[in-house]
Amino acid sequence: MSFKSLGLSKALLDAVSKQGYTSPSPIQQKAIPLILERKDILASAQTGTGKTAGFTLPMLQILSQGQPLRKRPIRSLVLTPTRELAAQVHSNVKSYSEFLDIRSTVIFGGVNQRPQVATLRNGIDILVATPGRLLDLQNQGLLSLSNIEILVLDEADRMLDMGFLRDIRKIIDLMPRKRQNLLFSATFSKEIKNLASDFLHHPAMVEATPENTTVDAIEQKVYRVAKDKKTGLIIKLISEGDWKQVLVFTRTKHGANRLCEKMVKAGISASAIHGNKSQGARTKALAGFKSNSIRVLVATDIAARGLDIPLLPHVINFELPNISEDYVHRIGRTGRAGASGEALSLVSADETEFLRDIQKLVGIKIPVEIVEGFEPDPNASTKPIKQGGGGGNRNSGNRNSSRNNISSRNSSKPSNRNRRTNDRRN
Ligand code: AMP
Repeated sequence: MSFKSLGLSKALLDAVSKQGYTSPSPIQQKAIPLILERKDILASAQTGTGKTAGFTLPMLQILSQGQPLRKRPIRSLVLTPTRELAAQVHSNVKSYSEFLDIRSTVIFGGVNQRPQVATLRNGIDILVATPGRLLDLQNQGLLSLSNIEILVLDEADRMLDMGFLRDIRKIIDLMPRKRQNLLFSATFSKEIKNLASDFLHHPAMVEATPENTTVDAIEQKVYRVAKDKKTGLIIKLISEGDWKQVLVFTRTKHGANRLCEKMVKAGISASAIHGNKSQGARTKALAGFKSNSIRVLVATDIAARGLDIPLLPHVINFELPNISEDYVHRIGRTGRAGASGEALSLVSADETEFLRDIQKLVGIKIPVEIVEGFEPDPNASTKPIKQGGGGGNRNSGNRNSSRNNISSRNSSKPSNRNRRTNDRRN
């Protein structure tokens, strides 16, 4: 199937071909025609499926039909859970609208509002925003949502996880009732379903089936190792492999900082990216990583969500996530866009149950290796790590859809009920 056959205009086809995309991804094939028909959409899709172009391309086509309104009221709003995702979605909007008379901007917290307000004053058609800053500027009378024609909730499950439900409802109340709504979520908890039934009108359901090539290209490996030898092992792997661009996941912010410090001491340039870092620090870390001036980016799950790092060769789980589906999200960051990738996990005895759940979910037994000098501790307990409470409501989520990102072919009976705790200390 071609982008042309989806009914997109020449300006959009030119933009898409400039990006080097040759054919639409499955979610794009399904979502674009429905959105162009002005249907509400309830889409099960996560990062890596091409979902952003899936909603942005038809949105641009709809907004560019007819004359631009003289005052340029905001006609389309894309809400995202994190600043990084907002910046990334906006960068996509900019690329795809290059040959159109469409103006867009992005607003998020953690940075000075003045430049954002100045851009809003000039009039824009599309606003990409995180909920907090959006409401903040709205309360100050600096923007209006009374002309919104299209609302996109991107990564709606994460927005609810992060406690944005009330904000989302407030924002929806500020918009005209008659509008098109597009909801994208990796998972469908009761809360998401409630939200969807409240504000979507007869939505068409769309499910992403990511291309197998991405999955097949990821080589997964487990290193069984004693807990206190993990840092030594990761440093050895990165140094001896001479790996240049490694994304490392830790479970906590504190753990990310600590590991980062040890890497730097060992002569490996590293930066941490997590919720406690200022926006400036996060942007700098990501830019350094993308430009290869930082070899290792240590991230927590929420901070890494939505990061678009093309051609990522190595992902290492310094600790396994206690939510199996997060493993799928994490390793989905390698081997994207057809590039090959390697996903390694350092697993200590107390993560044995997490590993078992992950293997059940992905439907394969991940090959295990032991490195001399970094052997597992035979006396260590296999009881799962005790974690403090941290809020979040992911326990109620049906995260079944996320297994689509990896070898669902092999997975006859995946478990999607494998949360140990609901700790989200990101
Ligand atoms: P997303 O799921 O929106 O985060 O997109 C994941 C990655 O796929 C991004 O790097 C996009 O630029 C890229 N992408 C989106 N659509 C296509 C396509 N049709 N062909 C190839 N790459 C794409």
